[in-house]
Amino acid sequence: MKDFIKKLKYPLHCEHCEGISEVEDPRHHPSYEITNECNLDCIFCYSRIAKAKGLPKSGYYGDLKPKAITISQFGEPLLAGEGEVLRIVKALREMFGEIRLDLQTNGVLLTPKICEEFEIVMISLDAGSRESYYKITKRDFFERVVENVKMSSGITHTTIRTVFMPGINDRELKKIAEIASVADELFLQPVSIYKENKELIEKIDLERAESIGEFLRVSMELSEIAELRIPGCFLLNLNRTLKNYSIEEIMLFTRNAFAEFPEISREWRFRI
Ligand code: SF4
Repeated sequence: MKDFIKKLKYPLHCEHCEGISEVEDPRHHPSYEITNECNLDCIFCYSRIAKAKGLPKSGYYGDLKPKAITISQFGEPLLAGEGEVLRIVKALREMFGEIRLDLQTNGVLLTPKICEEFEIVMISLDAGSRESYYKITKRDFFERVVENVKMSSGITHTTIRTVFMPGINDRELKKIAEIASVADELFLQPVSIYKENKELIEKIDLERAESIGEFLRVSMELSEIAELRIPGCFLLNLNRTLKNYSIEEIMLFTRNAFAEFPEISREWRFRI
């Protein structure tokens, strides 16, 4: 296990994020927010809570010398339409020059033209079957998203983002990894639980969701199938912890899966 952790690479998306540097109180790299609306209704999502609060307002959040910008951290950006997303992409490139643009999407409305314009396309996929996709998202788009994973993987660096939710999707993770094996990365994230997401709290196996050992064991298993990555900031902290604790001790560690609402700490600057 220790060797597995040592060999793990940072996800490409995490490059240029303060989360993988030694700064105090790191912030996520800049984002351009388009909407907090979504065409899915995922049981774990913080955008649902954001929408109820009317947050965040659209526009650019972050410093004015970015190396990478995510479109977007909240909501489903492609709901704005292909033309509008391409207009924003063009304007950001004109304004900032050499930047990496990362798209964060549920993949339902993805098109080849959109994929061509982003250095990284990150597609959320938390189920390995149509039935389970429906249970998690309340929508019937599983096959369409799987097709779009293949399409995007043939065009640009494609990352499949999966939230580890024991009791909900753990039996499907291998199937998700098989789907992600055509992509460049499978990014497995520990779940964050918000008190407003009542259905998630009812269904999740909290003990396993909070176990570091469980997360690492599953990550190692999936790495046999796809190019596995874990959040860069999580990996940085694991490597730091390994300097003071044995891997056997770390496997017994737990994390608090309950999280506060993720407000954007970066400054709002402008809307294009
Ligand atoms: S996972 Fe962590 S390091 Fe990676 S982009 Fe997000 S905050 Fe930054």
